[in-house]
Amino acid sequence: MAADIKQLEKKYVGKEVEFRLLRFAPDKDRAPYFQSFRIKLSQGMTVLDALMRIKETQDPTLSYRKSCRMGICGSCAMQVNGFPKLTCQTQVTELNTDKPIEVRPLANFPILRDLVPDLRNFLKAHESIKPYVIREDAEELDHPTGEFYQSPKELEKYLQFAYCIKCGACLAACPTNATDHEFLGPQALAAAYRYVADSRDQGLEQRLEAVDGPNGIFRCHYAGACSEACPKGVDPSLGIQLLKREILKYRVGAAHKKPAPLAVTPKGLKRREGIPLPPEKTVGQ
Ligand code: SF4
Repeated sequence: MAADIKQLEKKYVGKEVEFRLLRFAPDKDRAPYFQSFRIKLSQGMTVLDALMRIKETQDPTLSYRKSCRMGICGSCAMQVNGFPKLTCQTQVTELNTDKPIEVRPLANFPILRDLVPDLRNFLKAHESIKPYVIREDAEELDHPTGEFYQSPKELEKYLQFAYCIKCGACLAACPTNATDHEFLGPQALAAAYRYVADSRDQGLEQRLEAVDGPNGIFRCHYAGACSEACPKGVDPSLGIQLLKREILKYRVGAAHKKPAPLAVTPKGLKRREGIPLPPEKTVGQ
């Protein structure tokens, strides 16, 4: 393995590579255009590193988003050679360096400037599905008497969907989003399933209002491109299909989500004075 990496470095370090970057300054350009830059590759260089090098050494006006540089924040997602990718996780040596490497802002989003997409509608869609646990027992929320129990099996039902970093790559890959900009999109729909599948949640009815409209969940044709594009291993198309099932179950009246029980007080547990103990019996039994 170490030998392979050494071979790659020998082949690529110092090689001059062309990057074709989409440029667009709405205050002065009538339309987006491509501009080419040539840089020498250095060891372990990612596409984001290349953009940073270009900005530092050739054009300080180049605009793009980045933050963590370790695949966690999701802000550096862009189209690299036509595919949505986290640029901080894409090694230049993974690409064909004999041809120009093309970098554009994420597809299916308006462009704010150069490589920066406008994510406002995307974030609004996420907000619209109420991305938080909804409970009916307001009294318990205001004056908690214990924790809500969740078994490892219950956690498994939604865990992979909780790994979403809201990078937008799935929307850039989605053919429905490409033709219907009002479509809620795979991220918001998978996030809705993440909460519906959470045993502590009681917000199914409220979320249905958000996801089951004319531009909602049933516009998804199950192309599966979102799941291929996701850099975090989330499978939004699976979440969407499972959410469709929950909706159909709800419509035929077969689903009756029970509230998650409060954790049973372990025998002999004593709390600090003034804080009431949770009941010995689980609520909802
Ligand atoms: S589901 Fe995956 S691709 Fe879509 S926003 Fe979340 S992390 Fe990004």
